[in-house]
Order: sequence, then C-alpha cells, then structure tokens
Amino acid sequence: MAGPRTPRPRTSSRLRRATAVLGLSAAVVAGAPAAMAEPRTDVTPPVVTADQVMPHLGALQRIADRDGGNRAHATQGYRDSVAYVKAALDKAGFRTSLHRFTHNGATGYSLIADWPGGDPEHIVFAGAHLDSVETGPGINDNGSGSAALLATALEVSKSGLKPNSHLRFAWWGAEEPGMVGSSAYVRELPAAERDRIDVYLNVDMAGTKNNRPWLVVQDDPAAAEAFNAYFAARNLRTVKIGIGGSDHVSFGDAGIPVGGFATGLDDCTHQACDRVENVDPVTETTSTNAFISTVWRLAVRP
Ligand code: ZN
Repeated sequence: MAGPRTPRPRTSSRLRRATAVLGLSAAVVAGAPAAMAEPRTDVTPPVVTADQVMPHLGALQRIADRDGGNRAHATQGYRDSVAYVKAALDKAGFRTSLHRFTHNGATGYSLIADWPGGDPEHIVFAGAHLDSVETGPGINDNGSGSAALLATALEVSKSGLKPNSHLRFAWWGAEEPGMVGSSAYVRELPAAERDRIDVYLNVDMAGTKNNRPWLVVQDDPAAAEAFNAYFAARNLRTVKIGIGGSDHVSFGDAGIPVGGFATGLDDCTHQACDRVENVDPVTETTSTNAFISTVWRLAVRP
C-alpha cells in the first residue's frame, strides 16, 4: 500500500546541531537564561486524565448537534470544529494557519499548528483527521483522535516544552472522502520541506469500546518501538499493522517515515450513533497518554 521510499540524506545533521549550539550561545549573550534556552533531553512526559480529554469530545458533539448532526467537509459543523480547535491552540501559544484546498467544488481546510522553537531541519509532525462523514457526528471517528492530538498539543504548551525537534500538529479536512486534506498538504510541500519531516505520527479512532487491541503502525522504527513499548508496559494488547487506511498514507506515499495507531472500527462507525457515548473514556485517555509519551520521546530526544 505504501509508495516507493526515497533515501533521506542525514549527513548534515552534525553541522545543523553545531549551528543550533551557536544559536543557543547567541541567546545566552542576549540575556536569556541558559536553562530556558537549552533543549531538554531528560523530560518525563506528562500524564493526562479523562477530564483533560473528554471535554473536547463533548464540545465536538455539541457542534454536531447544533449544526445538523455532522461535521463533514464543507459543512458548518466542520468549520465550527476547526474554530474550536484553533481557538484552544491560539490561546496556548501555537502558530496556527489554515491550509486551503478544494474538494467537490467546495473549499476545505486543514488546520496546521506549529509550536515555536526546535530545530526546523528536524520536524516531528503529528496529525489526525477532524472531519466526519455526513451521516453522523464522527466522535470516535475521528473526534477521538482529534481530541487526543489537541490534548497532546496543550500539554506541550502547559509544560513549556523545549524540544530538540520542531513540533508541528495538523487536523486534516476532507479525509473521509479519501485523504483529500492531507494529500493536498503533502503535495504542495516543497521537496526540501518534506525532507525536514523526520516522522509523521497519526491517530485515527482512539476510544473504541470493548477492549479492542491497539493497531500500531510499524514503519518508522523509533515511533513503532515507542508505541509498542508503551502498550506492552501496561499489558495492553496490540496488533502490528502496515501503512494504510488513514491519513498517514499521504505521508508514507511521499517517502516520509510514519507511525501512529488506531483502536479499530466500532458498531457505530460512519453512523449517527457515533456519538460521545460511543467513546470509552479509559481507552481514549490511554490513547492520549500513549500519544503524549511518544511525541515526547521523539521530539525531546536529540
Ligand atoms: Zn477516521
């Protein structure tokens, strides 16, 4: 399912690190405290509770309820979903932008959020699709992944994280009609900018009920190892899967290493009953903490 991979030259990373050190010295000279400017390598990832994740799902449910029952491409429900996530990110200090594309004669939007700082030559990129199908509110698919991603971003802000890598987040539009938003974004990235993305991490359906195994994408070795180890340490079942079926395909097809997971389809997938009651709060919270842990491991480490 994955497209051909292109080898990614890394020979200049030592030079980039040296430049980063010089940048650090300049900051010290300018009066910034060294402890603030120095990238951290020893940070323990935060752990969230359901109270920090489930309210986002409640908000997306209310948006669908007042906007005709769904949050699909080109609907008020989707636009309000973007506005909700964007407002939270803006307040938390992210640099947000909308990536526009056209699908079915209507303008679509993906929301991109950059956390200021980190090495711009090494990007850790995390994403989830924010749109639903037209037949339901899409709370497990994929309000759950969107909420896990938002909770992760807000923890980055809350902890004042100074990762070695640059951190970028994206909430994709029009993925349900066939990965339209993510493929438009990747297609328009200049080749040099694609090469800067070390890894893309995806989360699609994070709160499926009834103790389903976590389906963990095995592509980027460090990402796969981080997720596998997180779940194994908690005696949680996993199934190893390849690239396919979700937003990370757009990145994998472009030769960018990918990772991430899903908790699998449920009885309400793409139906009106995919409401907030269709999400298991314990699974949703575990998924969020797995995502936070992996983002920390990949972005904080040199
Ligand atoms: Zn989905």
